[in-house]
Amino acid sequence: MTTTFDLKNIVRPNIWDLAPYASARDEFEGEASVYLDANENAFGSVGQGQWNRYPDPLQKVVKEKLSAIKNIPWKQIFLGNGSDEAIDLLYRIFCTPGQDAVLTFEPTYGMYKVSADINNVAVKSLPLTADFQLPVDDALDHIKKTSSLKLIFICHPNNPSGNLMKRADIEQIIEAFSGIVVVDEAYIDFAPEASFVSALEKYSNLVVLQTFSKAWGLAALRLGMAFASSEIISLYNKVKPPYNINQSTQNLALEALADYNTFKAYLQNALEQRDVLIEALKQLSFIKQVFPSDANFVLCETTDAPGIYKYLTDKGIIVRNRHKVFNNSLRITVGTPQENKSLIEALKQWQ
Ligand SMILES: *Cc1c(COP(=O)(O)O)cnc(C)c1O
Repeated sequence: MTTTFDLKNIVRPNIWDLAPYASARDEFEGEASVYLDANENAFGSVGQGQWNRYPDPLQKVVKEKLSAIKNIPWKQIFLGNGSDEAIDLLYRIFCTPGQDAVLTFEPTYGMYKVSADINNVAVKSLPLTADFQLPVDDALDHIKKTSSLKLIFICHPNNPSGNLMKRADIEQIIEAFSGIVVVDEAYIDFAPEASFVSALEKYSNLVVLQTFSKAWGLAALRLGMAFASSEIISLYNKVKPPYNINQSTQNLALEALADYNTFKAYLQNALEQRDVLIEALKQLSFIKQVFPSDANFVLCETTDAPGIYKYLTDKGIIVRNRHKVFNNSLRITVGTPQENKSLIEALKQWQ
Protein backbone atom coordinates (compact mmCIF):
# COMPACT_ATOMS: atom_id res chain seq x y z
CA MET A 1 0.00 0.00 0.00
CA THR A 2 1.48 3.32 -1.04
CA THR A 3 -0.10 6.43 0.40
CA THR A 4 -0.22 9.46 -1.86
CA PHE A 5 1.93 12.25 -0.59
CA ASP A 6 1.19 15.93 -1.10
CA LEU A 7 3.80 18.22 0.41
CA LYS A 8 1.48 21.20 0.63
CA ASN A 9 -0.90 19.22 2.87
CA ILE A 10 1.70 18.63 5.54
CA VAL A 11 3.76 21.84 5.59
CA ARG A 12 2.72 24.43 8.18
CA PRO A 13 0.59 26.99 6.30
CA ASN A 14 2.67 29.93 7.62
CA ILE A 15 5.85 28.27 6.29
CA TRP A 16 4.29 27.42 2.93
CA ASP A 17 3.34 31.12 2.57
CA LEU A 18 6.58 32.49 4.06
CA ALA A 19 8.46 35.12 2.08
CA PRO A 20 12.06 34.34 3.12
CA TYR A 21 14.70 36.93 3.99
CA ALA A 22 16.54 37.99 0.86
CA SER A 23 20.21 38.59 1.69
CA ALA A 24 22.60 40.71 -0.36
CA ARG A 25 24.20 37.48 -1.63
CA ASP A 26 20.76 36.21 -2.74
CA GLU A 27 19.95 39.37 -4.68
CA PHE A 28 23.24 39.55 -6.59
CA GLU A 29 24.85 36.23 -7.48
CA GLY A 30 27.38 37.03 -10.24
CA GLU A 31 31.02 38.14 -10.08
CA ALA A 32 31.74 41.83 -9.52
CA SER A 33 34.79 43.97 -8.79
CA VAL A 34 33.26 46.23 -6.14
CA TYR A 35 30.93 44.90 -3.45
CA LEU A 36 29.17 47.66 -1.53
CA ASP A 37 25.89 45.86 -0.92
CA ALA A 38 26.21 44.01 2.42
CA ASN A 39 27.60 46.55 4.91
CA GLU A 40 30.71 44.42 5.41
CA ASN A 41 34.04 45.89 6.51
CA ALA A 42 35.71 46.74 3.17
CA PHE A 43 39.13 47.21 4.84
CA GLY A 44 39.55 43.67 6.14
CA SER A 45 39.16 41.56 9.28
CA VAL A 46 40.43 42.16 12.78
CA GLY A 47 42.49 39.15 13.80
CA GLN A 48 43.94 36.43 11.59
CA GLY A 49 42.62 35.63 8.15
CA GLN A 50 40.15 37.11 5.67
CA TRP A 51 36.65 36.75 7.05
CA ASN A 52 35.11 40.13 6.23
CA ARG A 53 32.76 38.88 3.49
CA TYR A 54 29.53 36.99 4.20
CA PRO A 55 29.69 33.34 3.14
CA ASP A 56 27.64 31.72 0.36
CA PRO A 57 24.19 31.20 1.95
CA LEU A 58 23.66 27.99 -0.04
CA GLN A 59 27.24 26.63 0.28
CA LYS A 60 27.27 25.65 -3.41
CA VAL A 61 30.94 24.69 -3.63
CA VAL A 62 30.68 22.30 -0.69
CA LYS A 63 27.40 20.88 -1.97
CA GLU A 64 28.78 20.29 -5.47
CA LYS A 65 31.64 18.29 -3.98
CA LEU A 66 29.19 16.36 -1.77
CA SER A 67 26.91 15.84 -4.74
CA ALA A 68 29.66 13.88 -6.50
CA ILE A 69 30.47 11.80 -3.40
CA LYS A 70 26.85 11.06 -2.44
CA ASN A 71 25.60 10.78 -6.01
CA ILE A 72 22.72 13.22 -5.61
CA PRO A 73 22.06 16.67 -7.17
CA TRP A 74 23.28 19.58 -5.02
CA LYS A 75 19.75 21.02 -4.88
CA GLN A 76 18.76 17.95 -2.88
CA ILE A 77 21.26 18.75 -0.12
CA PHE A 78 20.79 20.95 2.96
CA LEU A 79 23.69 21.76 5.29
CA GLY A 80 22.99 22.63 8.92
CA ASN A 81 24.83 23.72 12.03
CA GLY A 82 25.08 20.06 13.04
CA SER A 83 22.28 17.55 12.49
CA ASP A 84 20.69 19.30 15.44
CA GLU A 85 19.75 22.21 13.17
CA ALA A 86 18.50 19.86 10.44
CA ILE A 87 16.25 18.16 13.04
CA ASP A 88 14.97 21.40 14.59
CA LEU A 89 14.11 22.90 11.20
CA LEU A 90 12.00 19.85 10.32
CA TYR A 91 9.83 20.63 13.33
CA ARG A 92 9.57 24.25 12.32
CA ILE A 93 8.66 23.39 8.71
CA PHE A 94 6.15 20.62 9.38
CA CYS A 95 4.80 20.77 12.95
CA THR A 96 2.37 23.38 14.21
CA PRO A 97 3.13 23.81 17.95
CA GLY A 98 0.45 22.55 20.31
CA GLN A 99 -1.27 20.70 17.49
CA ASP A 100 0.94 18.26 15.55
CA ALA A 101 2.80 15.14 16.67
CA VAL A 102 5.84 13.01 15.84
CA LEU A 103 6.69 9.33 16.34
CA THR A 104 9.96 7.91 17.70
CA PHE A 105 11.15 4.43 18.66
CA GLU A 106 12.82 4.02 22.05
CA PRO A 107 15.53 3.73 23.14
CA THR A 108 16.94 6.22 20.66
CA TYR A 109 18.79 9.51 20.18
CA GLY A 110 17.57 12.09 22.69
CA MET A 111 17.48 15.14 20.39
CA TYR A 112 14.26 14.11 18.60
CA LYS A 113 12.33 14.51 21.85
CA VAL A 114 14.22 17.57 23.11
CA SER A 115 13.61 19.32 19.80
CA ALA A 116 9.92 18.32 19.99
CA ASP A 117 9.68 19.71 23.53
CA ILE A 118 11.35 22.98 22.47
CA ASN A 119 8.85 23.30 19.64
CA ASN A 120 5.89 22.24 21.82
CA VAL A 121 5.14 19.24 19.62
CA ALA A 122 3.74 16.00 21.07
CA VAL A 123 5.92 12.88 20.94
CA LYS A 124 4.54 9.37 20.75
CA SER A 125 7.22 6.80 21.37
CA LEU A 126 6.85 3.10 20.68
CA PRO A 127 9.35 0.60 22.12
CA LEU A 128 11.72 -1.13 19.73
CA THR A 129 11.44 -4.95 19.78
CA ALA A 130 13.67 -7.05 22.07
CA ASP A 131 16.35 -7.15 19.37
CA PHE A 132 16.00 -3.37 18.83
CA GLN A 133 14.07 -3.63 15.55
CA LEU A 134 11.09 -1.53 14.47
CA PRO A 135 7.67 -2.55 15.84
CA VAL A 136 6.20 -2.31 12.34
CA ASP A 137 2.62 -3.37 13.06
CA ASP A 138 2.31 -0.99 16.02
CA ALA A 139 3.81 1.79 13.91
CA LEU A 140 1.39 1.19 11.02
CA ASP A 141 -1.48 1.11 13.48
CA HIS A 142 -0.39 4.41 15.03
CA ILE A 143 0.01 6.01 11.59
CA LYS A 144 -3.51 4.98 10.62
CA LYS A 145 -5.19 6.45 13.68
CA THR A 146 -3.17 9.66 14.14
CA SER A 147 -4.05 12.41 11.68
CA SER A 148 -1.86 14.95 13.50
CA LEU A 149 1.28 12.84 12.91
CA LYS A 150 3.80 14.75 10.74
CA LEU A 151 7.25 13.23 11.31
CA ILE A 152 8.56 9.73 12.06
CA PHE A 153 12.18 9.48 13.25
CA ILE A 154 14.10 6.28 12.51
CA CYS A 155 17.69 6.14 13.71
CA HIS A 156 19.61 3.77 11.43
CA PRO A 157 22.00 2.52 12.84
CA ASN A 158 20.28 3.29 16.10
CA ASN A 159 21.89 5.19 18.96
CA PRO A 160 22.35 3.77 21.65
CA SER A 161 21.76 0.16 20.51
CA GLY A 162 24.16 0.38 17.54
CA ASN A 163 22.19 -1.77 15.07
CA LEU A 164 20.75 -1.14 11.63
CA MET A 165 16.99 -1.46 11.25
CA LYS A 166 15.65 -3.92 8.69
CA ARG A 167 15.49 -2.09 5.38
CA ALA A 168 12.15 -3.66 4.39
CA ASP A 169 10.60 -2.45 7.68
CA ILE A 170 11.73 1.13 7.05
CA GLU A 171 10.37 0.99 3.50
CA GLN A 172 7.03 -0.35 4.71
CA ILE A 173 6.70 2.62 7.07
CA ILE A 174 7.72 5.14 4.38
CA GLU A 175 5.15 3.67 2.00
CA ALA A 176 2.32 3.67 4.53
CA PHE A 177 2.86 7.24 5.79
CA SER A 178 1.69 10.45 4.13
CA GLY A 179 3.97 12.57 6.34
CA ILE A 180 7.77 12.72 6.47
CA VAL A 181 9.97 9.78 7.47
CA VAL A 182 13.36 10.93 8.75
CA VAL A 183 16.08 8.29 8.52
CA ASP A 184 18.98 9.46 10.70
CA GLU A 185 22.14 7.92 9.26
CA ALA A 186 24.69 9.56 11.56
CA TYR A 187 26.54 6.21 11.78
CA ILE A 188 25.85 4.79 8.30
CA ASP A 189 29.52 4.99 7.26
CA PHE A 190 30.36 2.32 9.86
CA ALA A 191 27.57 0.02 8.68
CA PRO A 192 27.73 -2.76 6.09
CA GLU A 193 24.70 -1.42 4.20
CA ALA A 194 24.09 1.29 1.63
CA SER A 195 22.60 4.64 2.55
CA PHE A 196 18.93 5.47 2.02
CA VAL A 197 20.07 8.46 -0.07
CA SER A 198 19.63 6.33 -3.19
CA ALA A 199 15.98 5.67 -2.17
CA LEU A 200 15.14 9.39 -2.50
CA GLU A 201 14.34 8.88 -6.17
CA LYS A 202 11.56 6.53 -5.13
CA TYR A 203 10.25 8.23 -1.97
CA SER A 204 9.30 11.91 -1.98
CA ASN A 205 8.40 11.80 1.76
CA LEU A 206 11.88 10.71 2.88
CA VAL A 207 14.53 12.87 4.57
CA VAL A 208 17.96 11.30 5.18
CA LEU A 209 20.24 12.87 7.79
CA GLN A 210 24.00 12.41 7.91
CA THR A 211 26.75 14.29 9.72
CA PHE A 212 30.41 15.30 9.59
CA SER A 213 30.60 14.69 13.37
CA LYS A 214 31.30 10.94 13.41
CA ALA A 215 33.18 9.14 10.61
CA TRP A 216 34.56 12.40 9.19
CA GLY A 217 35.96 13.36 12.59
CA LEU A 218 34.71 16.96 12.41
CA ALA A 219 32.38 17.19 15.41
CA ALA A 220 33.80 20.57 16.43
CA LEU A 221 32.87 22.17 13.08
CA ARG A 222 29.13 21.53 13.58
CA LEU A 223 28.15 20.42 10.11
CA GLY A 224 25.18 18.18 9.42
CA MET A 225 23.57 17.13 6.14
CA ALA A 226 20.00 16.50 5.09
CA PHE A 227 19.15 14.86 1.77
CA ALA A 228 15.61 15.05 0.40
CA SER A 229 13.54 16.09 -2.62
CA SER A 230 14.46 19.52 -4.01
CA GLU A 231 11.01 20.73 -2.83
CA ILE A 232 11.75 19.80 0.79
CA ILE A 233 15.26 21.26 0.52
CA SER A 234 13.73 24.54 -0.75
CA LEU A 235 11.63 24.66 2.41
CA TYR A 236 14.76 24.10 4.51
CA ASN A 237 16.45 26.97 2.64
CA LYS A 238 13.47 29.25 3.20
CA VAL A 239 13.38 28.66 6.98
CA LYS A 240 17.09 28.45 7.87
CA PRO A 241 19.05 31.44 9.17
CA PRO A 242 20.47 32.99 5.96
CA TYR A 243 24.17 32.37 6.70
CA ASN A 244 23.88 29.25 8.86
CA ILE A 245 27.20 27.68 7.79
CA ASN A 246 30.19 29.93 8.40
CA GLN A 247 33.01 30.34 5.87
CA SER A 248 35.60 28.66 8.05
CA THR A 249 33.45 25.53 8.32
CA GLN A 250 32.83 25.57 4.56
CA ASN A 251 36.60 25.80 3.88
CA LEU A 252 37.46 23.03 6.32
CA ALA A 253 34.69 20.76 5.02
CA LEU A 254 36.08 21.19 1.49
CA GLU A 255 39.54 20.23 2.69
CA ALA A 256 38.10 17.11 4.31
CA LEU A 257 36.08 16.12 1.25
CA ALA A 258 39.24 16.33 -0.86
CA ASP A 259 40.95 13.78 1.41
CA TYR A 260 38.79 10.71 1.02
CA ASN A 261 41.76 8.41 1.69
CA THR A 262 42.14 9.61 5.26
CA PHE A 263 38.40 9.20 5.75
CA LYS A 264 38.68 5.58 4.58
CA ALA A 265 41.73 4.92 6.75
CA TYR A 266 40.03 6.22 9.92
CA LEU A 267 36.97 4.17 9.09
CA GLN A 268 39.09 1.04 8.73
CA ASN A 269 40.76 1.74 12.11
CA ALA A 270 37.42 2.18 13.82
CA LEU A 271 36.01 -1.04 12.39
CA GLU A 272 39.08 -3.05 13.40
CA GLN A 273 39.07 -1.62 16.90
CA ARG A 274 35.34 -2.24 17.23
CA ASP A 275 35.99 -5.96 16.79
CA VAL A 276 38.87 -5.87 19.28
CA LEU A 277 36.72 -4.05 21.83
CA ILE A 278 33.73 -6.37 21.43
CA GLU A 279 35.90 -9.49 21.82
CA ALA A 280 37.56 -8.12 24.96
CA LEU A 281 34.26 -7.02 26.52
CA LYS A 282 32.75 -10.46 25.93
CA GLN A 283 35.46 -12.00 28.16
CA LEU A 284 34.34 -10.06 31.23
CA SER A 285 32.02 -11.93 33.59
CA PHE A 286 30.07 -8.86 34.72
CA ILE A 287 29.21 -7.98 31.12
CA LYS A 288 26.05 -9.95 30.46
CA GLN A 289 25.62 -9.04 26.84
CA VAL A 290 27.47 -7.10 24.16
CA PHE A 291 25.01 -6.07 21.47
CA PRO A 292 26.09 -6.34 17.83
CA SER A 293 27.16 -2.96 16.44
CA ASP A 294 26.92 -1.38 12.99
CA ALA A 295 28.28 1.90 14.42
CA ASN A 296 31.41 3.26 16.15
CA PHE A 297 30.17 2.40 19.63
CA VAL A 298 29.01 -0.67 21.50
CA LEU A 299 26.11 -1.07 23.90
CA CYS A 300 26.64 -3.61 26.69
CA GLU A 301 24.35 -4.89 29.35
CA THR A 302 26.20 -5.25 32.66
CA THR A 303 25.44 -6.38 36.18
CA ASP A 304 25.86 -2.84 37.56
CA ALA A 305 26.09 0.02 35.06
CA PRO A 306 26.03 2.90 37.59
CA GLY A 307 28.76 1.16 39.68
CA ILE A 308 31.02 0.45 36.72
CA TYR A 309 30.45 3.94 35.35
CA LYS A 310 31.49 5.53 38.65
CA TYR A 311 34.53 3.22 38.96
CA LEU A 312 35.73 4.08 35.43
CA THR A 313 35.13 7.79 35.94
CA ASP A 314 37.31 7.72 39.07
CA LYS A 315 40.06 6.22 36.88
CA GLY A 316 39.63 9.04 34.33
CA ILE A 317 37.87 6.87 31.75
CA ILE A 318 34.49 8.19 30.67
CA VAL A 319 31.91 6.01 28.97
CA ARG A 320 28.20 6.74 28.64
CA ASN A 321 25.94 5.46 31.38
CA ARG A 322 22.72 4.49 29.58
CA HIS A 323 21.17 2.83 32.64
CA LYS A 324 18.15 5.11 32.40
CA VAL A 325 17.41 4.29 28.75
CA PHE A 326 18.25 0.58 28.83
CA ASN A 327 18.60 -1.22 32.14
CA ASN A 328 22.20 -1.53 33.41
CA SER A 329 23.68 -0.61 30.06
CA LEU A 330 26.82 1.29 29.14
CA ARG A 331 27.51 2.77 25.73
CA ILE A 332 31.18 2.67 24.87
CA THR A 333 32.66 4.58 21.93
CA VAL A 334 35.39 2.77 19.98
CA GLY A 335 38.69 4.44 20.86
CA THR A 336 42.28 4.18 19.68
CA PRO A 337 44.08 0.88 20.43
CA GLN A 338 45.70 2.52 23.48
CA GLU A 339 42.41 3.93 24.79
CA ASN A 340 40.62 0.62 24.35
CA LYS A 341 43.47 -1.14 26.14
CA SER A 342 43.27 1.27 29.07
CA LEU A 343 39.53 0.70 29.29
CA ILE A 344 39.79 -3.09 29.20
CA GLU A 345 42.63 -3.17 31.72
CA ALA A 346 40.64 -1.00 34.10
CA LEU A 347 37.55 -3.16 33.64
CA LYS A 348 39.53 -6.33 34.35
CA GLN A 349 40.33 -4.91 37.79
CA TRP A 350 36.73 -4.18 38.66
CA GLN A 351 35.69 -6.36 41.63
C1 LIG B 1 25.92 12.04 16.91
C2 LIG B 1 24.58 11.96 16.30
C3 LIG B 1 24.16 12.93 15.39
C4 LIG B 1 25.05 14.07 14.98
O1 LIG B 1 24.67 15.26 15.46
P1 LIG B 1 25.48 16.57 15.01
O2 LIG B 1 24.58 17.66 15.49
O3 LIG B 1 25.58 16.52 13.51
O4 LIG B 1 26.80 16.52 15.66
C5 LIG B 1 22.91 12.80 14.79
N1 LIG B 1 22.13 11.75 15.08
C6 LIG B 1 22.52 10.79 15.93
C7 LIG B 1 21.65 9.63 16.18
C8 LIG B 1 23.74 10.88 16.58
O5 LIG B 1 24.11 9.93 17.46
